[in-house]
Parts: sequence; structure tokens; C-alpha cells
Amino acid sequence: MAEAIHVAWTENEACAELKRIFAKFMLAVTRGVGALACDSAIPTQKMKQVRALQFGGAVGSAVRVNQKRKCDASLSAEQPRVAEVAHADRREIRSTRLDFSLMLAQLRDVLAAKYSTVMAQKNDDRWLGLPQRAEAHRTLVGIGENNCGQLGAKAFCCHPFGALSPIKFNARLGQVQRATAMDPAHVDGCCMICLHAKSKGDDMAAAELKQSFHMTPNEFRRRGKEMVDWIADYYERVESFPVLSQVKPGQLRSALPAQAPERGESFDAIMVDVERLILPGITHWQSPNFFAYFPSNNSFPSILGEMLSAGLGVQGMLWATSPACTELETHVFDWLVDMLALPAEFASGGPGGGVIQDTASSSSLCALIAARERATNLATNERGCDGRLIAYTSTQAHSSLEKAAKIAGLGSANLRAIAVDENFAMRPDALAVQIARDRAEGKIPFFVCATIGTTSSNAIDPVRDIASIAREQGLWLHVDAAMSGTAALCPEFRWTHDGVELADSYCFNAHKWMFTNFDCDCFYVRDRGALIRALSVLPEYLRNRATESGAVIDYRDWQVPLGRRFRALKLWFVIRHYGVEGLRHHVRRHVELAQQFAQWVRADTSFELAAPAPLNLVCFRHRAGDETNQRIMDRLNASGDLYLTHTRLNDRLTLRMSIGQSQTELRHVERAWQRIRAEAAAIV
Ligand code: PLP
Repeated sequence: MAEAIHVAWTENEACAELKRIFAKFMLAVTRGVGALACDSAIPTQKMKQVRALQFGGAVGSAVRVNQKRKCDASLSAEQPRVAEVAHADRREIRSTRLDFSLMLAQLRDVLAAKYSTVMAQKNDDRWLGLPQRAEAHRTLVGIGENNCGQLGAKAFCCHPFGALSPIKFNARLGQVQRATAMDPAHVDGCCMICLHAKSKGDDMAAAELKQSFHMTPNEFRRRGKEMVDWIADYYERVESFPVLSQVKPGQLRSALPAQAPERGESFDAIMVDVERLILPGITHWQSPNFFAYFPSNNSFPSILGEMLSAGLGVQGMLWATSPACTELETHVFDWLVDMLALPAEFASGGPGGGVIQDTASSSSLCALIAARERATNLATNERGCDGRLIAYTSTQAHSSLEKAAKIAGLGSANLRAIAVDENFAMRPDALAVQIARDRAEGKIPFFVCATIGTTSSNAIDPVRDIASIAREQGLWLHVDAAMSGTAALCPEFRWTHDGVELADSYCFNAHKWMFTNFDCDCFYVRDRGALIRALSVLPEYLRNRATESGAVIDYRDWQVPLGRRFRALKLWFVIRHYGVEGLRHHVRRHVELAQQFAQWVRADTSFELAAPAPLNLVCFRHRAGDETNQRIMDRLNASGDLYLTHTRLNDRLTLRMSIGQSQTELRHVERAWQRIRAEAAAIV
């Protein structure tokens, strides 16, 4: 179907070059689409001469399509026919839509090759500042997406105002502003661009040319503020997007250029593509209607901390490479020991300590490696695994344990999946039996991982009982509290952590439920020596006085990678902003909402709870069976209203309502339940 594109020019010699560029641009944009034009949406009445340019496929030339105005036209033999088709096709044209943002971005790029540009969109702050810019620039262009009255089509208009004095410009700008203000339905988008021919180069243009290719501090200042505005706006409009991205596989890639740009592009163009290309491909984890998986929640203090971390650009592999990066991390981790009532041995003052890992998966891997080396007295590090080491976890443990067993060279067959009870928690008796069986076969049991809040159902393993077996058998006990560790902020939920004081290592994800953006996993060990011995390598180029003094922590030895970001900043910001009180408030609220939801499920005879809901995850299902539950979930997710995921419990498809988004309120949970029931009613 043809797209209608309207191009109108004032005849102004100063704009001849711009006109040529714009024509080229329009051809590029419309190539292969087939474009029609009319000139009925020209806001400036005083134009002496107006041309409507028509581009059809690869053909482009002037054509008269408006009978009221005497337009300059040079028609080839076949163009009248095209013009007629344009009129005959009014209905189709009416239903077409132009991507104004795309065109603007592309036009910007074309213009940027030749001119330094300043662009202001209707209603943005720079709009009113443009007259001052225009003084320093030569040419001003107004671009708008108008409704073209005659054909009822959208038209894309470009008005080069020529070299204007600020006074004249103000008058013109006022005109356009009035036009847009008076009849907003008539102008959907409007934009002004100041242009300055790069070749002419005055001071301002020269400054903006930035031959170093770097963004200047001033531009960064401006863009940074815009980005913060963009992010704040995003949070304000996040509920307007479908929660689960609705794009098709390959959709983004097919819209991206095959090659990287040879010439740098304008930031405006990049941001337009963020809106146009990236946003549709976003599944909105920060939507209050996101109830899938486990949350990866966030907060503005965290985002600011992340921004500062990026700004400082610190690489904190060694204490010496940025003492603050290491010491803030150690300090905040000591705070967290108190905040979550974790064992005192985890604090830095004792034999243990804590470190930020990227993910809980990395924590499990590091714990497994430290345990492996403790069990083999560092022999495995030297000679590799001999196949006798056996690790244990429950059938419900996170898949990262299996991955860790593979990476650590154990072999996944040497990770035993211990049976669970009716609440999906690990059975200590089954663990004891399996350990005995393995010992009898000459194996070396060395590691067990208990979970506080399993991924499937939020089951709480009996850590104390598991710990007592681990102690008796000399196994390293790692506790994976990736999701539910944050609950220990609240004294009333600390029962979930009973026995953690006996663990050798422990982790929870601040990036799940503690309002700290991904990634930020908090990993603690009882004996830091065991971890460091397992992971330490010291090449000559990393040697330094501080390390050799023994007085500092070098976190490079506590993790798999060497390099590390300054992630403690965002955690510090979050904790200081909310205070323990604020964090507890939100955790309690989420648990309350989940318990309310569980109550609604219990009260509805069509649904049932599929597992206990100790905290903020509710596993439930429709009684009509797997197919019905699958269809309910698919329909909800396709609607974009909310996002739910599933698991299998007792081999039955089970829906998971996971409540932990920073902005989720009762109204979101109420609506989710209404939507779930409505979809169920529609298909059963
Ligand atoms: N452990 C548990 C209990 C989890 O629920 C998850 C993720 O949901 C993980 C580990 C893995 O988390 P990460 O992505 O931080 O590795």
C-alpha cells in the first residue's frame, strides 16, 4: 500500500542545498514503498511558490496535485497517471501511517553529514531556545507530521525558513507554535532544526563539530539530563506497554543496518531508534504488572548509583586500583550482615566476609570450587577432578547448580538431586541415605547446596537439619537464598533462615528483591581463606605494595573474573535512601499482596494452590488441567496486560504469581486476578 508523503518548499536559494539533501532523504526513506504527495497541508500562507515533490518508487520529480494552488510542476508523460492514482486511492492513503520518528531520525543523519544541527521537538525545552540558536545558525527548518485535509492522509512537511533574523524567526516560530497549539489534531509531531553549513564554520559550529569524535562534556551534560528525563518518563509510562514484548524473532535485527555506521550518528537519531526499535523488543521487567519468574526489581537511587559507577568507570580488581570500590563493598556487606541477621562469621571482622558477584550462579560456582579445593587440599586445582567428588542439592534446586557442577569439572552426573517432601523442600533423611550410599561406593561427598526459596515454588529447605548432616559428614554447606534472602530484613520472616549460622557460604540477590538493579548478588563465606586459596593466582603485573602488606582485600581472588565494577555504589545508595525501614516496608507489602492473592485462589473453587506460599510467590492452577492453564497463561501474556510464567509441580503445569516489583500495588494484583479469572471463564 502506498504511503503518502508531503514535501513542500518555500523557494529560497539559501535552502537549495537542503532541498537537494531532503529530496535524497525522502527517496531513501520511500524507496520501494511508493509514495504519493499532495500539498494541502502547508501551514505557511505567505509562501510565494510551493512545490509538491512526488516520489514513486525510485522515481522522483515535481508534480502538480493541488488544483487550488498554482504549483510549479514539471510532469513527465506518466506522472499525471500517478497523480490520478493518488486521488483515486484516497481511501487507502487515509489508512496509511507515516513513521514520523523514523523519518526525523533519518533526516537528522542526512543533515548531520553536511550541517551542524540542533533539533528541538514540539513541546521540548529546546523548542523555545531555538531563536537564540538560530542567531548563530543560518538556516532553520520546521518539520511536522500533518494531517493532510484533502486526502485525509498523513503528510510529512518540511519548511526551510531560510536565513532568518531572530525576530523574523520568532514570528515564524510563533506561527508554527500557534498552528500546532490551535489545532493539535492537525499536527501530530513537529520539529525545528537549526542548521549551519559545516564548511562555513563560525565558533559555535566549530565547537559542535567535535573533530575529536568525542561527545563534549557540555553535550554529555545535556544528553545526560535528557536521559534521566527519558528514564523517569519511562517509569511513568511503563504500564502503557505490553508487559511481554510482542515482537517476532529477528524483528529487531531485520530493522537494523547490516553494517556499523562509518560516520558517527547524532544522539537524537540513536534515541529515536531506542523508542522505535528497542522499546518494542523490551519485556518490561519494571512494569508493576510483571509477575513472571522472580522479579529483578529496581529503584531510582539504584539507577543513580549505577550511573555514578559508570561515570567513575572504576575497575576494582585490586584494593589499589580503587580503594573506595573495595572498602565500600566490604562495609556495605557488613551492614547487610546486621540487616539480615546473618551469622557474625560472615562479617569482615572475623574469618569470613562478603563480596558482590554478578549472579547467584557465580556464587554457587565459587562456593563449589572453594569446597572442592577444601576437600582435596588444593589437589584438584593442580591435577583436575578424578571423578570421585560428589555434590548434593534437591530436585528443586536452581539449574545453576548443574551448570556449576559442569564448569567446576565435577560432571553433572556427580551432582545428586535429593528427593523433596510434599512442600518441595529437601528431605534430610534422603540426603543422609544418598551420602552413605556414595561413601559405600568409594565416592567423596564434599558439598551440599540448600535453597531458601526455590525457583519453582519458593520452597524453604530445612537448612538446620541439612547443616547438621553436612557438619557430621564434613561437607561444605552452601545456602542459595537468591530470591528469598531479602525477606530476612524482616524479623517475622527470619524463620526461613533458621540454621544459616551453620553454613559455609550463603548468597542472596539484591538484584531480585532489594531494589538494586541487575547485577548484584551478595555472596558470603565463613572462611575467606578457603575461597581465596581456591581462586587466587598472582601474576607479576598484579603485584603491588598494598597487596603484599596483607592489610587489604583484593576482591579479584573472590570471584571468577579478574575485573570488577563498582557495584557497591548502587547498593549503598539504595540502603541509604530507603533505610532498613523503607526496605522492610516494601518487602512486607509484597508478601501481604501475595498472601491476599493466595486467599483469592483458595476462595475460588475453579482454582487451587499448588504449593505453600511462604512469602511472595503463589503457585496455583486451574482445576481443569494442564491445557487450560497453558491457554490461560498464553492468552494473558499475549494480551500484554500482565506477564505470568509457569513451572511443573508434581508433574502438573502450575502458574506462578511472583510479586516483587517495586511499583506493584494492590490494584495491579487485583486486576491480575480479575484477568486470570476472565480468561479462565472465556475458555473453560
Ligand atoms: N538460585 C535461585 C533460587 C534462583 O531463583 C535463581 C534465579 O531465579 C538463581 C539461583 C539464579 O540467579 P542468577 O540469575 O542470579 O544466577
